[in-house]
Amino acid sequence: MLKITKLNKSYGATQVLHDISLEVAQGQVVAIIGPSGSGKSTLLRCVNLLETPQSGQMTIGSQRLDVASMSRADANQLRQQTAMVFQHYNLFKNKTALENITESLIIGKKMPRQQANAIGLALLDKVGLSLKADSYPSRLSGGQQQRVAIARALAVSPRVMLLDEPTSALDPELVNEVLQVIRAIIDHQTTILLVTHEMAFARDIADRIIFMDEGVILEDGTPEQVFGAPQHARTARFLQTVH
Ligand code: ADP
Ligand code: MG
Repeated sequence: MLKITKLNKSYGATQVLHDISLEVAQGQVVAIIGPSGSGKSTLLRCVNLLETPQSGQMTIGSQRLDVASMSRADANQLRQQTAMVFQHYNLFKNKTALENITESLIIGKKMPRQQANAIGLALLDKVGLSLKADSYPSRLSGGQQQRVAIARALAVSPRVMLLDEPTSALDPELVNEVLQVIRAIIDHQTTILLVTHEMAFARDIADRIIFMDEGVILEDGTPEQVFGAPQHARTARFLQTVH
């Protein structure tokens, strides 16, 4: 479903991702863990082409592309297969919860407003926010805003859903409601890459754990393997600091 081959990304002289290769089956839930600065966000941003890697190939579904030389049209097509949820929600402040969700359907997919609203309301229901359809982000808690952001990401029916520390900006008492929503969207059809520091949650929901360190994938296995018997001292040390 998602295949990344020898992806390299630098900012100026600093290489942030080194020859990353990764293959994820459709519907698989992959939790990406690792210390701050190890390249987790950069990897997600490269997958949805918010960043342009210097080299590498990427395949989503049947679309295989050389990331450094692809056309803008190809990039857009690839981008449309993915949706991203950010740490800081990034909702449109001047749009209601419902409008945030329907925007990409009405503008991007040219869907009639009525049809888009029906989808939007169903998604709000899915994240437990039916009553907040007409609320602006400023009137919602952080947890509620993040749940709207998740509904917005789902609206485009992405093949690959990218979540970058979706609970890291939340007050502790709001974390669980968002984790519950993430748990509820796992449908074993949509491929999910989740960067998180919630180790217990990752262990519980992920099919696979990837540990990144200094721009490489150091460890890649089942939760039992990575948490229970890490292959590298670096992984063990990291796990000790977060438990
Ligand atoms: P993580 O998400 O694992 O904390 P990041 O992917 O955000 O790590 O960052 C990896 C490295 O790339 C860090 O050293 C960071 O300082 C650097 N970096 C990230 N984004 C940029 C950028 N836009 N410009 C320059 N350096 C960046
Ligand atoms: Mg990050």
